[in-house]
Amino acid sequence: CFLCITIPLRLIFSTPRRHELIRRNMASNRASAAETSRFDFLVIGGGSGGLAGARRASELGANTAVIESHKLGGTCVNVGCVPKKVMWNAAVHAEYLHDHSDYGFATEKVNFSWETLKAKRDAYVSRLNQIYRNNLDKAKIETIQGYARFTDDPEPTVEVNGRKLTAPHILIATGGCGISYLNIFILVLSSCLVIVGAGYIAVEMAGILATLGSKTSLVIRQTGVLRNFDAFISANCTKELQNNGIDLWKNSQVKSVSKTDKGLEVTIVTKDPEKKNDEKISTIEEVECLLWAIGRQPHTSGLNIGTMLFSHPVGDNKNDTSRFAAKSLKAHCYFTCGAVAIAAGRKLAHRLFEGKKDSKLDYSSIPTVVFSHPPIGTVGLTEDEAVKSHGKENVKIYKTSFTPMYHAITSRRSPCIMKLVCVGKEEKVVGLHMQGLGCDEMLQGFAVAIKMGATKADFDNTVAIHPTSSEEFVTMR
Ligand SMILES: Cc1cc2nc3c(=O)[nH]c(=O)nc-3n(C[C@H](O)[C@H](O)[C@H](O)COP(=O)(O)OP(=O)(O)OC[C@H]3O[C@@H](n4cnc5c(N)ncnc54)[C@H](O)[C@@H]3O)c2cc1C
Repeated sequence: CFLCITIPLRLIFSTPRRHELIRRNMASNRASAAETSRFDFLVIGGGSGGLAGARRASELGANTAVIESHKLGGTCVNVGCVPKKVMWNAAVHAEYLHDHSDYGFATEKVNFSWETLKAKRDAYVSRLNQIYRNNLDKAKIETIQGYARFTDDPEPTVEVNGRKLTAPHILIATGGCGISYLNIFILVLSSCLVIVGAGYIAVEMAGILATLGSKTSLVIRQTGVLRNFDAFISANCTKELQNNGIDLWKNSQVKSVSKTDKGLEVTIVTKDPEKKNDEKISTIEEVECLLWAIGRQPHTSGLNIGTMLFSHPVGDNKNDTSRFAAKSLKAHCYFTCGAVAIAAGRKLAHRLFEGKKDSKLDYSSIPTVVFSHPPIGTVGLTEDEAVKSHGKENVKIYKTSFTPMYHAITSRRSPCIMKLVCVGKEEKVVGLHMQGLGCDEMLQGFAVAIKMGATKADFDNTVAIHPTSSEEFVTMR
């Protein structure tokens, strides 16, 4: 098994014509060299970013083609957000089963069929693949099935299955890759599963699979998960994973893996951070699936990008060399959100084909949800970031922790925690962090307010919706 995430599109290789305003129906498949198809916009990668950019560019009149080596929709639709959310929904059902008797429902024996869930999930994904294809056809965007590779031609040219294609603007939206993240969605529910990693995918997968019945171990190098989130969230999420029955191996790493008749044997080394040279070796036996959720790389292998970079300058400025290109490709692979890729793709289309020079994505205050159990919602600065950039004396924190009303009559309890990070005299809200029931759906509206520059007083002036968890944000003192 496993994984990786993505590089949202971003890198555009342009010939000097980049700054020309591309007008409607400008160039169209006029092959100057007989064998090279010409487009206004060539997109490598039919994932969230590539498709969004291609469709918007086409709406703006650019003759566009999309090259995709696998399935349309990319990571998000096929092996990311979509199948993951279906499985998370199933896991939420499993969680609620524990509360049925408290709410008066008799559910003595409930059977769960992984096969039914998998079949329905896969059928939904296939429907989406078809919808994406139809949308491209309707927009008169040519879909080219195959793996794109840059050639050594004097002008930036891509070859797919022996066919050569070029355009003044070529977008590399090839996403990210890992060892085999596809496998997570084809595996059967394992009786014994080990996940390595402390990022959001490790957390989500551990939560989903444990809730659906896998005996799950999570191996993390430090003492907590989600360490780039606010410390309040990181600590709570780490605790919740353990509350949900996940065997958490802190300060640990996989030392070796061997195969036996009964499955895998995963040997783990645990170091006590307080005591140097204190190592403990343990083995998890009969492991059916070992999932590596430890990082991602830009998916550029096989693109022949190296040759291309050295023969064609990129960027707005002649001094922007191949080195710059490689750097931007790497720098942007840390954005791991499908919606970011979509937004960036659309902005790019407006920049290139509508002459809107400032059409660039603002990467600040991007709201993020982690579909853990319970879910996490976060937007803006963490407390540490705010202190670092504004000074401790200018930061005011409001936080609360409570039991959501849903759990008032259930024996299963899961707290909700919330934090507001405010700065300056006016107490501008620069960060909002929460974990609890419903936080996934709660975040978007608050994110709008924060993007608009809301202050704590604006929050306080908003009448609370009672009884909800979200009302806590407008009643904090
Ligand atoms: C398990 C998992 C869960 C996730 N959950 C969420 C979530 O809940 N919410 C969220 O916002 N994000 C989530 N993400 C992240 C999200 O899926 C990605 O951020 C998003 O898909 C990135 O889009 P993209 O267009 O940059 O790349 P991709 O969607 O990866 O698209 C790249 C496409 O390029 C194709 N390609 C690559 N090289 C070539 C080539 N040389 N020629 C032709 N085609 C090529 C690939 O086949 C692929 O289809 C998740 C990711 C994973 C792995």
